[in-house]
Amino acid sequence: MTAKIIDGVAVSTAIRTEIAQRVVALRDKGVTPGLAVIVVGSDPASAVYVRNKMRACAEVGIRSFKYEFAADCAPEPVLDLIAELNSRADVHGILVQLPLPAHFPIPQILQTISADKDVDGFHLYNVGGLVVGDTVFPPCTPYGVVKLLEHEGIEIEGKNVVVVGASNIVGKPMALMLMQRDATVCICHAKTRDLAQFTILADILVVAAGKPNLILPQMVRTGAVVIDVGINRLPSGRLVGDTDFEGLRKKVSYITPVPGGVGPMTVTMLLANTVASAERMSAR
Ligand code: NAD
Repeated sequence: MTAKIIDGVAVSTAIRTEIAQRVVALRDKGVTPGLAVIVVGSDPASAVYVRNKMRACAEVGIRSFKYEFAADCAPEPVLDLIAELNSRADVHGILVQLPLPAHFPIPQILQTISADKDVDGFHLYNVGGLVVGDTVFPPCTPYGVVKLLEHEGIEIEGKNVVVVGASNIVGKPMALMLMQRDATVCICHAKTRDLAQFTILADILVVAAGKPNLILPQMVRTGAVVIDVGINRLPSGRLVGDTDFEGLRKKVSYITPVPGGVGPMTVTMLLANTVASAERMSAR
């Protein structure tokens, strides 16, 4: 078997074209969707992510506003800025780029963002919504994975799904979103004993652990669907996911590459959440 390689760039481009059309429709009503991005410190990886997000906003016609703070600043000015952005009519989405410096109270920062503008989907209101299957803003990375599966016509209902990784940002919301679509879901993490005994059962395997070569061909079922969320930079500088891509593609039915799989979808779903927010606000 040779896997179909899921082209996240192509799927992203198609979704971004639709998003750009929705932005035009909003503009006709006098609304320009706006995303505020708050950056604290000068983490080089964060700088790249923020640049990509703002460029993607510009490409679909979303206005973005960037606010930068020094790494040693106190949390209060950031909390004050969030409060101001919460009440601004030209801002439909607010995101605080993570990670934050260690002295920042991340839960308090995330809970200060209005649940109506929480385009990353990290506010407890939206996390709770995910649990009951009625969230306002699905978190961008798992949302992107669902869109990739839908785009490929991969059925989720009734399938055995194994999610490797249990973070609040990827693994847990991923599991909830797939359970909501009637999959039978198993979550594995760093303390799971004998990972392979679980992964071998997966019809759909989503891996988000941040460990290169964690998933080897003998750990997956022939014909499984493998979604590799991991992003790891090897000492050589090469970017890889969490799976043995070359080994797996000879055994599975679908696989996402790294780069060019889930990564572009994450930014695309941020755009989708921002436009959806602007549509909701303009309909009020
Ligand atoms: P995290 O470090 O917060 O969580 C990692 C999870 O993996 C934890 O639950 C941990 O228990 C589990 N884990 C670690 N080692 C494991 C092992 N050996 N076996 C089983 N489980 C193990 O990371 P995160 O924020 O969830 O990100 C995970 C990966 O996904 C990273 O590589 C990150 O860069 C990547 N990521 C990609 C995107 C994207 O857009 N493609 C977005 C977010 C994160």
